[in-house]
Amino acid sequence: MKKQGKLIIITAPSGSGKSTIINRLIQDDNLRLQFSVSATTRPRRGDEQHGKEYYFLTLDEFNKAIENDELVEYQEVYPGRFYGTLKSEIKRINKLGNNAMLDIDVLGALNVKKLYGDHALAIFIKAPSIEVLRERLVKRGTDSPEDIENRINKAEFELKFATQFDHIVVNDILDDAVNQAHQLITEFIK
Ligand code: 5GP
Repeated sequence: MKKQGKLIIITAPSGSGKSTIINRLIQDDNLRLQFSVSATTRPRRGDEQHGKEYYFLTLDEFNKAIENDELVEYQEVYPGRFYGTLKSEIKRINKLGNNAMLDIDVLGALNVKKLYGDHALAIFIKAPSIEVLRERLVKRGTDSPEDIENRINKAEFELKFATQFDHIVVNDILDDAVNQAHQLITEFIK
């Protein structure tokens, strides 16, 4: 695999405010960030669109992508729900001279970091506490109680890996977290 262009990997338990932070960072043209759209087998939420938030695949299609070696990495992030980074996305973004922004889970992130080494910056964003995380997920109102429990369990698991990332950003005050991530990325892509 060619290792041209840079990758910014952002990982955070869901409910940590990650999507908001990523969207704010992507809006700054100076960072030349482009979102790497992953493949997933999970159902669509709300008004999500195929090719925008994710490429929504059936399990069969996802398995074919694995067989055809189309993925940089993939994980069963939640039971029965697969997510994977597409090689074609990274290539597309690099070709345009942009930096790829990957919003992926902790194990996927550490795998990509291992593959790309100094070409990748891995940032872990965390909520101030598990209680705050639970509150945010309930408020979001997009997940069933069972899904929320799955996400909390996953968050507790993911937190154990935070120290293996290049940097940890605590999202207590959103603007501060965005600024901190912005500084880290600016320094990295210089
Ligand atoms: P959600 O279902 O809330 O959109 O995403 C659930 C989790 O899957 C998030 O933690 C997100 O970072 C992770 N995820 C999304 N795309 C990928 C991917 O391509 N690979 C891996 N390993 N995780 C992903």
